[in-house]
Amino acid sequence: MNLGITDRLKPILEQVSTMIRDEISPLDEEFLTEVDVGDRWQYTPRQTEILEGLKDRAKAANLWNFWLTDSARGYGLTTVEYAYLAEEMGKSHLAAEIFNCAAPDTGNMEVLERYGTDEHKARWLKPLLNGEIRSAYLMTEPDVASSDATNVEMSCIRDGDEYVLNGEKWWSSGAGDPRCSIYVVMVASPDKARHRHAQHSMILVPAATKGVEKVRAMRVYGEDDAPHGHLHMKFTDVRVPASNLLLGEGRGFEIAQGRLGPGRIHHCMRAIGQAEKALELMCRRGLNRTAFGKPIVKLGGNFDIIANCRMEIEQARLLCLKAAWMMDQGDARAAAPWISQIKVVAPLLALKVTDEAVQMYGGQGISQDTPLAKQWTHVRTLRLADGPDAVHRMQVARAELKKYTQEKI
Ligand SMILES: Cc1cc2nc3c(=O)[nH]c(=O)nc-3n(C[C@H](O)[C@H](O)[C@H](O)COP(=O)(O)OP(=O)(O)OC[C@H]3O[C@@H](n4cnc5c(N)ncnc54)[C@H](O)[C@@H]3O)c2cc1C
Repeated sequence: MNLGITDRLKPILEQVSTMIRDEISPLDEEFLTEVDVGDRWQYTPRQTEILEGLKDRAKAANLWNFWLTDSARGYGLTTVEYAYLAEEMGKSHLAAEIFNCAAPDTGNMEVLERYGTDEHKARWLKPLLNGEIRSAYLMTEPDVASSDATNVEMSCIRDGDEYVLNGEKWWSSGAGDPRCSIYVVMVASPDKARHRHAQHSMILVPAATKGVEKVRAMRVYGEDDAPHGHLHMKFTDVRVPASNLLLGEGRGFEIAQGRLGPGRIHHCMRAIGQAEKALELMCRRGLNRTAFGKPIVKLGGNFDIIANCRMEIEQARLLCLKAAWMMDQGDARAAAPWISQIKVVAPLLALKVTDEAVQMYGGQGISQDTPLAKQWTHVRTLRLADGPDAVHRMQVARAELKKYTQEKI
């Protein structure tokens, strides 16, 4: 099992981290400040200039679409190799998008790549791979406990050559982005003859379809995260061609498994980068600010806090790399409990280190003057998004117990 930095990765990692450090991170703050200029749900000319300018430079240097690991059309890296790049991207607000490796697009592109028809690929995958449009994934619904996706209720009824969709979704991340052109939507396709996990389907809905309504932006601890956003959406008699259904009726869970595995681990890889960044900020601040006649790092239990953060980051990174390695072995079922383990561990770790960094900073840590407050908020939501901790713990426990019983638990 090789979890190290390979020779072919070394120069790419060097280029990516240099570009993040020298070109992307310095523009993060200006980009975020621009959100308050004019319409929050549109990009300002300066934001577009920042995004497109950096994307063009990344693309020209072939630092693009690294996430597409397991495919002849992909960049050709393993998931383990990608983990090192994604960790670097976690250190900057903009970086993942600059390299066309941002959520939720990577998960949606996986879906289109694996399950889309040639027509879907030409119409949606191609512009997504080129970074020309963006996408959203609509599974969660306000009226049902969506951590159990068998509860999803949005109706999708066949009518001639079309499907007609009715229902509500919320927490649709990225649906606020004016460039978001396509939704991958989980819908109910009830059929008593089929298994419990074959009662749902996945269907493509163009954002501009009649009957799609953006009800409101959900707020995350008071922040609307514009222009990306996490929207509450309502579908009223939304008609799409029957050919927009992916794989076939009742095959939604099959697709969700394929989508959520890679998407989840990408979040975890970036969360480890966020923890690293928080630890760096904590150390620099603690060394350079004095209280009671000493640098803050030398006061109270601060050595222990720093040491514990370092040790826990290393543990989480190794677990993340092991989960990535399991994915590289090609057995999604065997990899799933490993992905669940890191999906619990990485957000908790990043949350803890970010919180300690805020504390060491004092009041400024919680303000708009450092990236820590925004980072804390984002990382906190990762304990819910793509499945709450408790659901992943359930998967880990089930895999463990399976070793000792034939009973289905
Ligand atoms: C910022 C953000 C972005 C998101 N982005 C998206 C997106 O782009 N697309 C999308 O479809 N969804 C998205 N989500 C939704 C997210 O995936 C759901 O919130 C999550 O799956 C939980 O569903 P729920 O909110 O309905 O909670 P519920 O299903 O009601 O669960 C509530 C709580 O019940 C407990 N619970 C549930 N199951 C168990 C169990 N087995 N054992 C013990 N306790 C349990 C847990 O504590 C859980 O947190 C996002 C959420 C947030 C906060």
